[in-house]
Amino acid sequence: MSAEPLSGGGPEDPGPGQPAPAAGKPARRLAAVRTVPPPPTTPIVVPGRHAAAEDGKRPDESAAAPEPAAPPESAAPPEPVAPPEPAPAPSPAPAPASVFETPEAQAARRVRETWADVEPQVDELAEWFAALLFSLAPAVRSLFPARITEPARRLLRSLVLPMTTVDRPDQLRTVLEPLVREHRALGLHAEQYEALGVAMIGAMRRFAPAWDEGTEHAWVRAFSLAAGPMEHAVRAAADPAVAEGTVVSHRRLSWDLAVLHVAPDTPVPHRAGQYLTVEIPQRPRMWRPLSPATAPRPDGLLEFHVRAVEGGWVSRAMVAHASAGDRWRLGPASGRLGLDPRSTAPVLMVAGGTGGAPVLALCEDLARWTRPRPCTVFLGGRVAEDLTVLDRLRVLADRHPWLELAVTCEDDPLDEHTLPGTLPDAVVRSGDWSQHDVLLSGSPAMIRASAQALLIDGVPLDRIHYDPFAH
Ligand SMILES: Cc1cc2nc3c(=O)[nH]c(=O)nc-3n(C[C@H](O)[C@H](O)[C@H](O)COP(=O)(O)OP(=O)(O)OC[C@H]3O[C@@H](n4cnc5c(N)ncnc54)[C@H](O)[C@@H]3O)c2cc1C
Repeated sequence: MSAEPLSGGGPEDPGPGQPAPAAGKPARRLAAVRTVPPPPTTPIVVPGRHAAAEDGKRPDESAAAPEPAAPPESAAPPEPVAPPEPAPAPSPAPAPASVFETPEAQAARRVRETWADVEPQVDELAEWFAALLFSLAPAVRSLFPARITEPARRLLRSLVLPMTTVDRPDQLRTVLEPLVREHRALGLHAEQYEALGVAMIGAMRRFAPAWDEGTEHAWVRAFSLAAGPMEHAVRAAADPAVAEGTVVSHRRLSWDLAVLHVAPDTPVPHRAGQYLTVEIPQRPRMWRPLSPATAPRPDGLLEFHVRAVEGGWVSRAMVAHASAGDRWRLGPASGRLGLDPRSTAPVLMVAGGTGGAPVLALCEDLARWTRPRPCTVFLGGRVAEDLTVLDRLRVLADRHPWLELAVTCEDDPLDEHTLPGTLPDAVVRSGDWSQHDVLLSGSPAMIRASAQALLIDGVPLDRIHYDPFAH
């Protein structure tokens, strides 16, 4: 997905001091252009999986990496991995390569030596690692608390530790078992090991004083040897954690829009506003986030509003080929769109197109509160068909005085109440939102434009919440 994004947002963003983007550092937050390091010159090959496409072409469907599901954020993210510390043990002095040294032993030794060199800067290294990792795999950000230094350091060490034992298979197995358990508890997915490796080596390349091609080869080799079994174990263990469900209805609203209902075998725990990652039989292993359009229901039924994006692998299949009876796989819920029950601030929700789905779910949820907070929803689209949740939001707004609804429809004004212009323009023209909790939902472009307009208009960044629109 076009994720030139807004890297993160909302309360989970790193606070001041988190990976400090000084000159040349990976940038974060609005308007910052992210810097993703070039991948290691030696490709990371995790045994047993396809290597990433190296020719710049779209990955083959069968090889495409599913986007990982993050754990629900209703619970605090599990404390990330606690590898044995200090890890790994540095060798006292760089030893010359023995003529009898196997390539594995040589790789492990060079990893130990390089790690000893960077230990004094491990916190900065870890912050770099995390920033690069979040750029490469934005979903991983939600696995970390606001202050990332310590968990990033722990995660980094948990990767380096097995790399130092790749020449001793028995020891490697012993080391890997608890680490894999902890990685799973953290919420890491098998598909993320490649990004972990690229981020780690990108960070090492910057911090290791004597980094050269030989060192990089050694690190890539060691990582490939250690990550293969980890990825395998995580993949093998992850399947039961994924729910399944049956598509019970598929209604096509237009050539590029459909509403689907999926009945999970067992209800998938989630909060209103969260998204689930889903996998459909037409596109195996290509997981995509989708936001249910209803607050959680007692029967667990999930409603999804899907727009086929141009050239989209999965969304087009969902709109054009999904049908009743299909079995979908459903990952755990995740996401930052939600209402903090401790806040008393009024709420502004800005939703574009199918971004209206989680906003409808949140409004349905608010309607169940004993004392709902005043809420203004701006719903926008290009044409009337885009406003898939308009009718239901109108019903809610008619019924509940705490809910106010405003609509934009750029190319196709619905009536005299339709606000002119784009969604962000209409929002900032319509009031002072600086005291509101703001939730944004929609395409990456819409989120970017709305966040920028609101920031310029004086809304503090920490009041603006959205999910990083990248998969
Ligand atoms: C938190 C979250 C919640 C989401 N909820 C929904 C939802 O409820 N309904 C829904 O229809 N989609 C939703 N999406 C988007 C969805 O997950 C997919 O990203 C989208 O359907 C495209 O997947 P694809 O495989 O078809 O496109 P790909 O094959 O991955 O990409 C094809 C092209 O489309 C571009 N692209 C990818 N995603 C988008 C996008 N969202 N908008 C515009 N261009 C894009 C890519 O940059 C690329 O050029 C959500 C995304 C996120 C991150």
